Amino acid sequence: MPNFGPERSRVSSAAAMPGDTSERLRTAGMRVTASRVAVLEVLGEHPHATADTVARLVAARLGSVSKQAVYDVLAACTHAGLVRRIEPAGSAALFETRTGDNHHHLVCRRCGRTEDVDCTVGERPCLAPGEDAGFTVDEAEVVFWGLCPDCQDRPVSHHNTKELQP
Ligand SMILES: [Zn+2]
Ligand SMILES: [Zn+2]
Ligand SMILES: [Zn+2]
Repeated sequence: MPNFGPERSRVSSAAAMPGDTSERLRTAGMRVTASRVAVLEVLGEHPHATADTVARLVAARLGSVSKQAVYDVLAACTHAGLVRRIEPAGSAALFETRTGDNHHHLVCRRCGRTEDVDCTVGERPCLAPGEDAGFTVDEAEVVFWGLCPDCQDRPVSHHNTKELQP
């Protein structure tokens, strides 16, 4: 008697990843479209990407998708809680699919490299001001600024050192 078991399981497991993204869209009450799936998958692979980077990667994946269409998808997914938008000072808005855990970010002052840091509390606001002036505080925006390991090793560039010369 032939045994089809292993063949079947190999076929069914192949489609696991795209199905997962479609499921997240459905759970959020959003229609599943090729551009929405592509935006979420690109962001999963490239966390903390700018809208322009997402648009470029999505266009490379799907052929022709307008920048505006990608911006609209980012806005809709952010509104639905599938995407989180962060705006470190001096940077374009960055997008990521890690949402709902109030994690924070380490940002390199020189190259902009951005890394996730777990919040020790896990929910907003994880810090309380010493004096709240009667405000009800619902969020503390925490960004850790510094130099990434690569930039610590790199000498300061020429136009920065010029000012220090006599
Ligand atoms: Zn750096
Ligand atoms: Zn993050
Ligand atoms: Zn925190």
